[in-house]
Amino acid sequence: MLTLLDNAELYAPEERGLSAVWIGGGRVLAVGPAGSAAAAGSAALAVERIDLEGRRLIPGLVDCHAHISGGGGEDGAATKVPAPLPSQFIGAGVTSVVGLLGTDDVTRSTGELLAAARALRESGISAWCWTGGYHLPPTTLTGSLRGDIVHLDLVIGAGEIALSDHRSSQPTLEELLKAAAECHLAGLLARKAGVLHLHLGDGARGLGLVAAALETGEIPARVYHPTHVNRRAALFEEALGLAARGCHVDLTAFPVAEDEDGFPAEVALQRFLGSGLPARRVSVSSDGGGCLPVFDEQGRMVSMEVGQSAALLETLSRAEALGLALEAALPAFTSNVADHLRLPRKGRIAPGSDADLVVLGAEGRARSVMAGGEWLLRDGVLLRRGPFE
Ligand SMILES: [Zn+2]
Repeated sequence: MLTLLDNAELYAPEERGLSAVWIGGGRVLAVGPAGSAAAAGSAALAVERIDLEGRRLIPGLVDCHAHISGGGGEDGAATKVPAPLPSQFIGAGVTSVVGLLGTDDVTRSTGELLAAARALRESGISAWCWTGGYHLPPTTLTGSLRGDIVHLDLVIGAGEIALSDHRSSQPTLEELLKAAAECHLAGLLARKAGVLHLHLGDGARGLGLVAAALETGEIPARVYHPTHVNRRAALFEEALGLAARGCHVDLTAFPVAEDEDGFPAEVALQRFLGSGLPARRVSVSSDGGGCLPVFDEQGRMVSMEVGQSAALLETLSRAEALGLALEAALPAFTSNVADHLRLPRKGRIAPGSDADLVVLGAEGRARSVMAGGEWLLRDGVLLRRGPFE
């Protein structure tokens, strides 16, 4: 059985206009102009033709930062955030996700994280992991970052190692270089991204340690992958400097209040794309399932929110409202992430790529979501759920 999505306003992520997309065996088989069914069709094969009536069709989102086994716990065990349910990813149009531990790499483990990734895979979503947590020496399964990346299929790099944060292990330059070296070497051995995904806190030291690592070490800039860089204006400026030197930087779609010093992800994205730096070096992730805490000056938690996968499509809509074209903003949520993380069949709607697609509905929300050629959400109706929802 083949599926033909016809009359799709296709963003692949580049704008392709009204298109027809052929799907079979879980992959995209062909892309052509709308209505080209007759030319490309074959009477010998059963084809389900679905008329998208001009709705926008985009690749499934690739979220490189989500707490798939839960997050938080920064005001005691009762504040540990439970693992998000599969429907939260599906409903948000996220078809590929990289999970991670965070602050709590003590009561949460790498084994538990891997199990959460496998659970999402059973729900139809593609999932991988960063090994480690906030701290160095890192939490691992095999005893080293290197071993985890080489031996564990789902592990593509390490993170989120915390820098410039009161919750970090206060890593030294030497420790950062060693962690980056392990990621880089393991990435080569295993043919994986081998990226060191770095949580940046509010601290004034910002990205200084990463800049120092680039100056002193031989490790390529692409290995250092800082995230949350839009949380402070000065940090974002530093991130632009690192992007000029070859780093890929990640923005977080967390809420930013008007009186805060940081930028909402859509504003930071617009600034990045307007900076003249290579557009492929920026991405946006959700921090879904993570705790978004506020601390007082003595480092005690005073309030918290929980990161949501849905923040990605909301950010995309707000980016458009700011005047960014969808095809300009979309790579940061799809192809840029897939390329940097070496996930070759993800992030694009092109022949040979996995059939991971989102049909956008009203207000830029996910109306239908397909992953691996299977509908998980169709016309607003959830078709796949986890066993506990
Ligand atoms: Zn973080």
